[in-house]
Amino acid sequence: MATADVDALIVGAGFSGIYMLKRCRELGLSARVIDAATDVGGTWYWNRYPGARCDVESMSYSYSFSDELQRDWTWTERYAQQPEILDYVAHVVERFDLRRDMRFETRVTSAAFDETSNRWQVETDRGDNISAKYCVMATGCLSTTNLPDFRGLESFEGDTYHTGRWPHEAVDFTGKRVGIIGTGSSGVQSTPVIAAEAAHLTVFQRTPNFSVPAFHGPIDPDVVKMWKTRHRELRQHARTSRIGDIFEVSETSALDLTREARDAEFERRWGQGSFNFLASFTDLITSRAANDFAVDFAHKKIRQRVDDPEVAELLCPKDHPFGTKRLCVDTDYFETFNRDNVSLVDVKAAPIEEITPRGLRAGGKEFELDAIVFATGFDAMTGALLAIDIRGRGGIEFKEKWSDGPKTYLGLAVAGFPNLFTVTGPGSPSVLSNMITSIEQHIEWIADCMGYMEARDLTTIEASREAEDKWMRHVSDVADGTLFFESNTWYVGANIPGKPRVIYPYVGGVGAYRDICSKIAADGYAGFTLVSAAEHVSPAMGA
Ligand code: FAD
Ligand code: NAP
Repeated sequence: MATADVDALIVGAGFSGIYMLKRCRELGLSARVIDAATDVGGTWYWNRYPGARCDVESMSYSYSFSDELQRDWTWTERYAQQPEILDYVAHVVERFDLRRDMRFETRVTSAAFDETSNRWQVETDRGDNISAKYCVMATGCLSTTNLPDFRGLESFEGDTYHTGRWPHEAVDFTGKRVGIIGTGSSGVQSTPVIAAEAAHLTVFQRTPNFSVPAFHGPIDPDVVKMWKTRHRELRQHARTSRIGDIFEVSETSALDLTREARDAEFERRWGQGSFNFLASFTDLITSRAANDFAVDFAHKKIRQRVDDPEVAELLCPKDHPFGTKRLCVDTDYFETFNRDNVSLVDVKAAPIEEITPRGLRAGGKEFELDAIVFATGFDAMTGALLAIDIRGRGGIEFKEKWSDGPKTYLGLAVAGFPNLFTVTGPGSPSVLSNMITSIEQHIEWIADCMGYMEARDLTTIEASREAEDKWMRHVSDVADGTLFFESNTWYVGANIPGKPRVIYPYVGGVGAYRDICSKIAADGYAGFTLVSAAEHVSPAMGA
């Protein structure tokens, strides 16, 4: 592919890029997918750490676009493990014969909009030069790992791992003293599994996290039957819901009930596992008083699950409202701290000073380790996009345009960057939802838009600055009505030094967002400028 000319260039071969390719084919467009990985899967290719699995239930965490696919594929567990998700992704790729238009082990390094040809010129680290009418960034919200700049890291004589770049070969911690840094979802999932294998596990915790039990197990055959017979109705429900899944929606404020009634409802939701708890009341994310009830309830659960009261207190999150940091869903996370071979170190009180040849020093004390696992997360939502040198009209750089925080129209398009789409980009619900629902909605919107343009012989579509500004104000206004800014999280860019402190996802909900996007499309892509070949005047002609 050293030089190529395609209708659509798609960066990323995860759930997003795969479905985008399928939809492009259906439109009769030529398309290529490029990924830095050696194979398909995106998140599920890179995150192979012990215990990695989805925490949205398998039946929902899968494509809905094909009735046959949904009927034929059967998950084995309530929350599928990483290898099973990867098998599923590979199955989809083979089933729809998508692999022949994919290229791996290739990183897109730059994309520049050529105003003369009205096409994107894309370059890769292999020297490819691809010209494309459309450029779709399916680069992932959680694909650029964050490895904090720990002093002395290079000097460590043991093995190091990042959960988001886990090796393909089996990792054996048997007999080893392992340290894990990070207690987000990756840390919470891997800690119990590593603890069961290692001689000793030390968990270095800076901020404790809220976690709800998964109640994981083999998938219930009745649930499978229900989905297989009612999948259309259930998926439609998910698409119009707040978080892209089929949770029972509460219409009650936590403030309107007696303590007994409120706790009974919390208990019922807790018993259902996963994110059901977050949907207990209408106002957990908007009212501090309502949220405090959830905090108290979650603290009570931690104290019940952890034997040592001092350790339990350390594990109780006290510096942020419930659900404003990505909620974890765990299997035996808190109980793991009851094991003799597990210790918890508070690195907020005594920060990590350096990595040493033999381990790690925090609070003046050296912890001897044979291996360190960095469960330190990602440069979320913008990291992968900003790693590419993207230049739009007049050579304006993405980096420059987003220096104070991302600016998008609907999280899908960026003014000054015609025919470029960002799948689940900043300013869309994406990471605050069942992402497969959000991915499908974005891909279908983009494909419909491409179809609209092709049918009318249009050359470019570009978000207007006014529409973009208005959307960003809306994204910010909606977040202002919530408790999200009360947390130091990657949702507000707080995990990466120097990252602008704004709200990255749209918190208005999946269903409401879908309606907005659909209306904009139905109104002839309101807020976008669409130009036909005939209307384009070449800049070379001095227009
Ligand atoms: P990704 O899967 O991230 O794929 C993006 C791809 O783009 C990657 O393969 C990357 O290599 C490639 N890429 C990026 N930049 C370049 C470049 N410059 N050149 C070439 N290739 C490039 N979401 C949920 O809704 N439920 C869950 O339970 C859930 N569990 C998760 C568990 C983990 C461990 C993580 C990290 C995330 C989880 N997510 C979950 C979010 C998950 O990222 C999405 O659900 C989904 O898989 C994203 O798919 P994607 O195709 O948009 O992006
Ligand atoms: P994360 O939520 O960002 O957690 C990173 C952890 O590393 C935090 O505990 C953070 O502490 C800690 N950390 C970072 N820098 C540190 C430092 N210098 N010193 C000490 N601690 C440090 O990342 P993640 O766990 O990889 O999860 C990212 C997202 O991926 C999740 O929120 C979720 O959306 C998705 N995910 C989902 C699942 C699932 O269950 N399906 C699993 C994994 C990931 P602070 O909090 O103090 O910053």
